Amino acid sequence: AIDFKWIRDNEEAVAANIKNRNSNANLELVLELYEKLLNLQKEVERIRAERNTVANKMKGKMEPSERQRLIEEGKSLKEGLAALEENLVKLTDELQREAQRIPNMTHPDVPIGGEDSSTIRKMVGSPRKFSFPVKDHVQLGKELDLFDFDAAAEISGSKFYYLKNEAVLLEIGLVNWSLSEVMKRGFIPLTTPEIVRSSVVEKCGFQPRGTTTQVYSIDDTDQCLIGTAEIPVGGLHMDSILADSLLPLKYVAFSHCFRTEAGAAGTATRGLYRVHQFSKVEMFVFCRPEESEYYHEELIKIEEDLFSSLGLHFKTLDMASEDLGAPAYRKFDVEAWMPGLERFGEISSASNCRDYQSRRLGIRYRPSEPVTQAKKTKPNLAPTQFVHTLNATACAVPRMIVCLLENYQQQDGSVVIPEPLRPFMGGLHFIAPK
Ligand code: AMP
Repeated sequence: AIDFKWIRDNEEAVAANIKNRNSNANLELVLELYEKLLNLQKEVERIRAERNTVANKMKGKMEPSERQRLIEEGKSLKEGLAALEENLVKLTDELQREAQRIPNMTHPDVPIGGEDSSTIRKMVGSPRKFSFPVKDHVQLGKELDLFDFDAAAEISGSKFYYLKNEAVLLEIGLVNWSLSEVMKRGFIPLTTPEIVRSSVVEKCGFQPRGTTTQVYSIDDTDQCLIGTAEIPVGGLHMDSILADSLLPLKYVAFSHCFRTEAGAAGTATRGLYRVHQFSKVEMFVFCRPEESEYYHEELIKIEEDLFSSLGLHFKTLDMASEDLGAPAYRKFDVEAWMPGLERFGEISSASNCRDYQSRRLGIRYRPSEPVTQAKKTKPNLAPTQFVHTLNATACAVPRMIVCLLENYQQQDGSVVIPEPLRPFMGGLHFIAPK
């Protein structure tokens, strides 16, 4: 339920927001289609009313010729109505499709501009000083026999990989560790379908088809591979009214993620940094509207605690308007220092989507009100409202592997496993050269 009336009444603000976010949404077309829809709806109602008038007239006594005339009139109204109703369905579809592309509004504190305009919220730690030449994760992986990119390129294509030996323990260990850390904080664990309907992808604010899409869609079906567990978790409560007492509903989901990485040519693509398939542990919150900024802070705090406990050097950014994507109202990214790549690289992202996804997915709740004497005798339920949704990365595995190998490499060629991960890797302390 996109609020078209609100969009029309706030045309200037919506247009400015589309510009600030460098979005390709076509507001003019949306408003034109909406106007057409309203007119068509009026016309359909007018003809329905006329049909009722004719039907009522037929109930009375009349000459056979008059009855015949009314029958004819009723028939022609019915045919006209069917054609208009068909147009109504087509127009509604077109309007929905165009309107889906309008991005969320933006938090007033978000810096306006491109990537360089993002501001630093927090800086933790400092870069480790090495007394020996630093290797990047690709070289470390080669020397420690942790990956096979060549075989993956033959079998699947570029930007795929096999993990081998301790790297497999590292992947499973990272997943298990991050999942249990987040579960400790009261989140419900989930694994999800990794193929979903295109309509759900769209309702979450992503474009399932087109030349710039990150989404793999499956030929001859209306289904896609998920780019993130945000989509199936968001869809979990599609078209439902949640009990107030259930909120906030907090989930932590493990899934694989699939991304075409269209348009990523020329960016850091070596090794595991940017790949087509990866494992991720994702947090997702459904909450009351007035609480979403509070939970956004909670999610970024969990991320910061996780990365601090692994001893990483990182910064948290308030992302600039052009970097928010369509669904986020505000987004905090974490970038960690990667000594081999000699730069910070994004390792996680926490977004408050407010009611952007819940409106499209139809997820509401009914605020509970104190029961008064009057209400006991005459129940008067509060109107339903859309929930707010938030999502945040707990652990995107490949980038964490890059970080850990590059930050914890030793002079003798081994890599130290950070203490919190050891219990999740069968007590392993080091990855040593074979
Ligand atoms: P996003 O859902 O785009 O915010 O991504 C969440 C996290 O997944 C990012 O912060 C990265 O750590 C990681 N990530 C995104 N895309 C890729 C990719 N193509 N390969 C590896 N990791 C990725």
